Amino acid sequence: MAGAEDFLSTPLQFLKGVGPRRAADLRRAGLVTVEDLLYRFPFRYEDRAHFASIASLSLGQEARSIVGEIVDANVRWTRRKGFKVFEALVRDSSGCVRACWPNQVYLGDKLKRGRHVVLYGKLEFRRPGGLQLSNPDYELLGEDDEADEVGRLHTGRIVPVYEKIGSVWPKFQRSLVHRALERLPADLDDPLPAELLAKLDLPARGEAFEQVHFPPESASLDLLQTFRTPAQKRLIFEEFFLFQIGLLLRKRDADAERKPFVPVTNQRIRESAKRVLPFKPTKAQREALGQIVADMKKPHAMNRLLQGDVGSGKTIVALLAAIVAMENILLFAFMAPTEILAEQHFLNIQRLFAASHFRVELLTGTTAGTARRELLRDLAAGRVHLVVGTHALVQQGVEFRRLGLVVIDEQHRFGVIQRATLRAKGLHPDVLVMTATPIPRTLALTVHGDLDVSVIRELPPGRQPITTTARPESRRDETCEFLRKEIEAGRQAYVIYPLIEESAKIDLKAATEMADHLAHDVFPSFRVALLHGRMKQDAKDRVMRAFAHGKIDIIVSTTVVEVGIDVPNATVMIVEHAERFGLSQLHQLRGRVGRGRHASYCILLHQSPLSEDARGRLQAMVETTDGFVIAERDLQIRGPGDFVGTRQSGMPTLRVGDLARDHTLMEDARREAEALLARGPAERLVALVRGTWATRFGLADVG
Ligand code: ADP
Ligand code: MG
Repeated sequence: MAGAEDFLSTPLQFLKGVGPRRAADLRRAGLVTVEDLLYRFPFRYEDRAHFASIASLSLGQEARSIVGEIVDANVRWTRRKGFKVFEALVRDSSGCVRACWPNQVYLGDKLKRGRHVVLYGKLEFRRPGGLQLSNPDYELLGEDDEADEVGRLHTGRIVPVYEKIGSVWPKFQRSLVHRALERLPADLDDPLPAELLAKLDLPARGEAFEQVHFPPESASLDLLQTFRTPAQKRLIFEEFFLFQIGLLLRKRDADAERKPFVPVTNQRIRESAKRVLPFKPTKAQREALGQIVADMKKPHAMNRLLQGDVGSGKTIVALLAAIVAMENILLFAFMAPTEILAEQHFLNIQRLFAASHFRVELLTGTTAGTARRELLRDLAAGRVHLVVGTHALVQQGVEFRRLGLVVIDEQHRFGVIQRATLRAKGLHPDVLVMTATPIPRTLALTVHGDLDVSVIRELPPGRQPITTTARPESRRDETCEFLRKEIEAGRQAYVIYPLIEESAKIDLKAATEMADHLAHDVFPSFRVALLHGRMKQDAKDRVMRAFAHGKIDIIVSTTVVEVGIDVPNATVMIVEHAERFGLSQLHQLRGRVGRGRHASYCILLHQSPLSEDARGRLQAMVETTDGFVIAERDLQIRGPGDFVGTRQSGMPTLRVGDLARDHTLMEDARREAEALLARGPAERLVALVRGTWATRFGLADVG
């Protein structure tokens, strides 16, 4: 056994053909050992057992592999100044084809007359040159190959194609992997238990390595290209499984820590909650609350994620939980991602608890001077029941007495770090993380895999559906007419402009000009106001308050209204340059309307032509208002890294798995990991995961 593992940890530079230069290039790409090499999947496969004949190539086909002899090669000057094309004429028994590589004159050193070459590409019609394989991938055969490997490795079979790493060409990597596989010990250790493999019908590790890199003749090219062969699934599953075991262990460790205060519930507390409740909670809200309160009564701290679409009513659930804490003489802290939101929550919460004996306070970065000193003193002395704030709440110098429950709103912007900070301060309160951007289940299992999850998948009753349309800017006039009708009917509207850091000045100017234009030229009789992030806090508040009281008809704004604002009479959301917004941002913006009894509209004005991604985003918006569906689409379009943001958000570094592509495998891995840990001690596996988890998944810096 030890021998086998030793082989996997052999540095790649000890393999034949890997000199210092290649070793360095490989290292930069994260490939240091044989194990790293074997866990690097080919990015595609070519069927070189069945080459296409040159005569069979035709326009409009997918890329094909052909093989032939170079019968002519030269550099051609074009009419464009300094622009040269390298072209080769390649012949097989059926005919000839021209292959062209623009601006790659140096290929003349390699693609010489008489050499045999594999080309992979599409036949196209291009000027200059006419019908050609344009910029195909190429691989030379013969000469530098070891004679015995030629037939076996590079042609006559389904071959793996790797991404080039510096000086390490795909073909060299293929030989390298082959050499490594030849020396792979038969008794290779397998981190996955044999019963599990049998149950899931997956091959053992050594076999999987073989088949991923050198698929048997019978393998399906379609399955290979989509990473769905048993061998590929097996290695992806292994990665996910080890990851989930680690998450579950972390959760188990957290559960083993007793929290200092365990609240109770009783009739008096239930009455207290009822008095505060302004409406009848939905079934989904009651269920979520039930799960939260059950957690609070457990001896270890709660770590729960509450997911619910915009407007699904998460806040009241959090506040009912807060009552349980406060009635147990425990402090409740509510953390919002921005000052504006913290202030809004503070005002709402203050109103809600106005008739109660609970003392509600606000602590943000702008709380200063005596007010701040006094508040800090009262927090430390336990004289406050509920504190709303920003990340300022977990900053240095803030001490709490009997901190019982912390709610972190909008997990996407922060959460993981805040939880770690609380722990670092020696605090172990119950923590509820809330997000209005639904996270696809797979990602929730990954990024929040050590959290329990509650979901509110139901909106409060009486909500009107929102009609969403995407329109090119040429339909602006029609859009303005529609807006006019709505305002004349007594409704209100948002017009949103993108504002990004890099072009903030220009963006702000555009929003300002549009506000002027709408106010003076288009709707002189309507009340139009501008709202943007550079305005002073009290100016912003004035605008928002006036809008909420119906004293403003149209708010022209940069994205500061993205979350939180709640004005039921607003029924129109117009987004300018919708193509510049991310999908979840658009969804958040749309959530500002459709909150009252009137039908609502979201109009996405965009420039044309649209990029493919932008088109996908707008289409998703038009097709569905379900935040969970939107989230899945967003994940497909953006990929998981972008979706959750920084590494600190808890995204693991993955070698073979892809969260967007392999989500069902992650779910399987979760289920099997839970089952395995529930069954028994699994000491060897647990030791393996404990020893390597953080570094393996690049999560060392997140507690
Ligand atoms: P979010 O989940 O986006 O934070 P909020 O908590 O802000 O949603 O709730 C959105 C709106 O719906 C608020 O005006 C809130 O008062 C209202 N609301 C929440 N729950 C209910 C309910 N059960 N019945 C009626 N209105 C509700
Ligand atoms: Mg909210």
